[in-house]
Amino acid sequence: MTTEPQPCARCGATIPEERLEALPETMVCVKCAKAMGGTEFRIEVTAEKTSKEGSLKKNYGCYSTRKVRKPIRPIEE
Ligand SMILES: [Zn+2]
Repeated sequence: MTTEPQPCARCGATIPEERLEALPETMVCVKCAKAMGGTEFRIEVTAEKTSKEGSLKKNYGCYSTRKVRKPIRPIEE
């Protein structure tokens, strides 16, 4: 699979091919990812409801995680 060079969604700089290969989902360059706290993603953990509707019994211990993209803010001058 070849990766097309693509511009950073935040500063417009070309994202290095190596970064795209390592992190194909990325939309920002290394510099901007660092400015966003090290990564453009955060992990959201949701407790899954496995108990029946209307049941008061709660089921703990079942969680699902998903990767959420942080909002990409324009660079402040
Ligand atoms: Zn950038």
